[in-house]
Amino acid sequence: MSAAIRLVVALCMALVLTLGLVASALAAPEGDGSQPLLNKVVFVHQADEAAAGGASPARPAKPAKEWYKYSGIHWDDDAIPVCYKIGGTDNLDFLNGILASFQTWEDDDLSYIAFECDNVSWRAVPSSFETNGYANGYNEVGWASLTSSYPNAIAVTMIWYGRDKHIVEVDTALNSDLPWTQNQVDGDPDEATGAPGYFDVQDIMTHEAGHWLMLLDLYQKAASEQTMYGYGSTGEVKARSLESGDIAGLRKIYPGA
Ligand SMILES: [Zn+2]
Repeated sequence: MSAAIRLVVALCMALVLTLGLVASALAAPEGDGSQPLLNKVVFVHQADEAAAGGASPARPAKPAKEWYKYSGIHWDDDAIPVCYKIGGTDNLDFLNGILASFQTWEDDDLSYIAFECDNVSWRAVPSSFETNGYANGYNEVGWASLTSSYPNAIAVTMIWYGRDKHIVEVDTALNSDLPWTQNQVDGDPDEATGAPGYFDVQDIMTHEAGHWLMLLDLYQKAASEQTMYGYGSTGEVKARSLESGDIAGLRKIYPGA
């Protein structure tokens, strides 16, 4: 690896780890009494227009010396493979796109993270995105009308974790108010070129699956090619594949084969 590439990798990893720290700081204890030991983090993936309009999400300033810490929030070994359920669509292409998004992270040979989908006919709206939503013990991917609660959101992922920093549940909702497709050329999903006007299920879900690992959003322009870049857009398929910073973060939190 050249020195230049090594520097880029190191920088990207620093960004990933930095944002992990920020999310940790933002996490607030649940106060409803039913799950007193759980903390919650919410990631909102925003459409690109927010970036153009300068309405970037609030990011608390952190001293540079804290940029190299990792929040420590992760799946315990006993929870891997991470089981999840999919609901809200019977579109086989969409289902395959979601499965592929998790598989992309699992495929890295130098990380032990693994996922397992055990139901593709689950409830349409993840429990946590319903009115008076709650953590129900299942990791869910589904669709929900998000725009009224999260303006400009493409997708939202919620993570609950305990005082031991072990993740206990993750739910992701793709915004059903938006147009979706699973782009492919001549029936080959590996030949995606992007469909103008549509959000790509696999592209957006690969980003969200990164949050399932506790990788956080990168908002720096220099990180715009990373899967964990905090903005997405219609016609985009680049986030289907992982880049140096995504992989560095993955291997930091879940190292080894
Ligand atoms: Zn995100």
